[in-house]
Amino acid sequence: MALKVLMAPLRYVQGPDALLQMGGQLQVLGIKNPLILVSPSAKKAVGSTIARGLDAVGIAYGFIDFGGHCTWKEIERVKNACLQGKHDAIVSCGGGKTIDTGRCAATGPAMNVEKTPPEVFERFGAGVACINVPTVAATDASTSAVSLVYTEKGTLEATMVFPTNPTMVFVDTAVIAKSPVRLLVAGMGDALATYFEADMTYRTSSISVQTRAQSTRTAQALARLCFDILMDYGVQAKAEAEAQVPGPGIEAVAEANVLLSGLGFESGGLCACHAVGHAFLHIPEHFKGTPPFHGELVAFGTLNQLVMEGRKPDFLDKIFAFCRAVGLPTTFAGLTLRDLTDEALEKVALVAARDILMQSMTGARSERDEQGRFYDHLEIVNALKATDAYGRAFDGRRPCT
Ligand SMILES: [Zn+2]
Repeated sequence: MALKVLMAPLRYVQGPDALLQMGGQLQVLGIKNPLILVSPSAKKAVGSTIARGLDAVGIAYGFIDFGGHCTWKEIERVKNACLQGKHDAIVSCGGGKTIDTGRCAATGPAMNVEKTPPEVFERFGAGVACINVPTVAATDASTSAVSLVYTEKGTLEATMVFPTNPTMVFVDTAVIAKSPVRLLVAGMGDALATYFEADMTYRTSSISVQTRAQSTRTAQALARLCFDILMDYGVQAKAEAEAQVPGPGIEAVAEANVLLSGLGFESGGLCACHAVGHAFLHIPEHFKGTPPFHGELVAFGTLNQLVMEGRKPDFLDKIFAFCRAVGLPTTFAGLTLRDLTDEALEKVALVAARDILMQSMTGARSERDEQGRFYDHLEIVNALKATDAYGRAFDGRRPCT
């Protein structure tokens, strides 16, 4: 029987004004001299609060500004600063790229899975504790054990997978409440996929690409909780974010977006929501401006997976209504796509059909066919068109309350 694996950060801390108490939480972990990697906007927003929180308990620390991109060069620079300053942790404070860089610079062993076979590094980062402080709740990346490394020009160069999750994930919900509303909503889109992908992976007895194992009942329950929180508190959280108030909605949704979504995807598995959502990035010329955020693409990918699953209209209505209510895209137009052709949709569908994540989908092939596909991409094209059609009809039929 296949093994079941659950992976998770060592410690998760969350609360309004939590940053003021970070010193105490670092002391619990025995950290005495952290290096704080901070993006310029995060430094402005929370730099002095972090300093106050550490000064309060007499912890020594150093700051290093994030250069803006997670590249080999930037990782090396942060790692060297960590080693030279004899720091025992890297605290990464900012958005996804800052956190990805800090995770690489901190964590010892690593594997680049973009290479076949994967490239193994026995000593990659500085080998110190990895502490992630997301200042936005736009994705679940801060909880995970993966970093994406890009070239200076912005193309994906490496997907670094680490054997361990962060030592601590630290979320100050007062900071999240003041972050851009669209980012919190995008995080809900990423979190919306979690349950449906974990559930599909479980139903088809597939494995999670992260754990290389089947999922536990625990991971399934966490993924379901993630979904329930979004349904219960998603709309409320958006209203609070618009008012910049860290109320109960933000408190609940931050946990869903950052923690539960992260645990659910790593230990539960990914599927068509991510494969299809991400595939849209292969037709950048069809976006009106900058492509949508990860979570926005994944939200549409989720609707598409539900259509592919043949879910009944009652259920589809519930999820389409949620997306409309919080402002996640339900149509091609909502994704800011324009001049879409069958050729472009076929390109998206073919990229998705070849994605290893599609292997977990019901009806998928267990091996690639001669075109490298796990799934008939023309069926995905139909599902994409059907999803867009449902979204457009839904807009007219039942405006959301
Ligand atoms: Zn995601």
